[in-house]
Formats: sequence, C-alpha cells, structure tokens
Amino acid sequence: MPDFLSALRTVPDFPKPGIAFKDLTPVLADPALFSALLGRLVEPWTDAGITHVVGIEARGYWLGPAIADRLGAGFVPARKPGKLPAATLRETYDLEYGRDALELHADDLPSAARVLVHDDVIATGGTARAACRLVEAAGATVAGISFAVEIAFLKGRATLPDVPIDAAIEV
Ligand code: AMP
Repeated sequence: MPDFLSALRTVPDFPKPGIAFKDLTPVLADPALFSALLGRLVEPWTDAGITHVVGIEARGYWLGPAIADRLGAGFVPARKPGKLPAATLRETYDLEYGRDALELHADDLPSAARVLVHDDVIATGGTARAACRLVEAAGATVAGISFAVEIAFLKGRATLPDVPIDAAIEV
C-alpha cells in the first residue's frame, strides 16, 4: 500500500486556531498516489451494487466523481444552500459554532438508487450524517459511506448510520 499518510499534509490552525487541517492536495498532485488512492477508495465497493455516488461540497468533489466513474455509477452533488438551480431537499446540521445546511436536487436520485456517500475527511461526522439524511429524504438507500481521511479520535464514525463505512487513511 502506498504511503498516503506521509504525503498527507497537516496544516496547523487552519482555517481557524486549534484546527489541524488535513490537506489532501499533495496526494492528489502526485499522479501515482492519486491513482492508488482512487483504487483504494473504490476497492471496498466494487461488488456493493452502488448506482450513485453523492459527493459533499466542496472537497467531496475531488474524488467523488472519479470514484463514481470507476464504479460505473452516477455522480450527484450535495451542495451548500442556494447553489443548486432546480427544486431541492435540505438538511441542516450543527457546526462547532452555529449551523450549516446541505441541499440535493429532489429528482437526481431514483428511489431504487443504492448510494455511496463520499467526503474527503470525517471529523465529528455531522456533515456526512446530514448527507445521509438527504439521501434518505430523497427516498433512496445509503449503501455505504466513504472517506479519504478519518480523524479517528473524534469518533465521528460512531454517529453515522449503521452501514458499511470505509476510510482510506486513518489519522
Ligand atoms: P465533520 O462534519 O465534523 O465530520 O467535518 C467534516 C467536514 O469538514 C468535511 O467536509 C471536511 O472537509 C471538513 N473538515 C473538518 N475538519 C477537518 C480537518 N481537520 N481537516 C480537513 N477538513 C476538515
């Protein structure tokens, strides 16, 4: 297995004091690591019957569409409020300070969809949880949840729905 962990950059106090930001850009910029990470992220789901990948704005768009393509699945963006042009579903979630929300086009997922939710990093799990609620609100099924990086000590995984969860790089 390539050494993703060595290439992952930790930026202290970004975007605010006290946050150790996990920066994937050096992994993505290296052609061999990028390809290997994609392969690693796709591998657990090849026989899971995934029909769609829902990627979370914004860094869930770095790898989500490529994962979808390798799985032969569609890609559906979960976006910040007011960005999607057609009729949307919305789920709000708590942040450290205040609240945020994610939206999904109401008609992007057929009810038979088996969805893989993807984001770059799981910290407390609130963002991915909101994305899962959106998929369910659309009448589709969350078949799994995928992260490039898991910040394990925050135990966000334990707050997610009871479906298979994969993270390629644990920190
Ligand atoms: P959470 O909802 O707490 O799991 O936070 C996950 C979301 O915030 C993801 O969309 C991440 O991109 C971002 N995020 C939170 N903490 C970090 C971190 N330490 N490094 C990079 N991204 C983070």
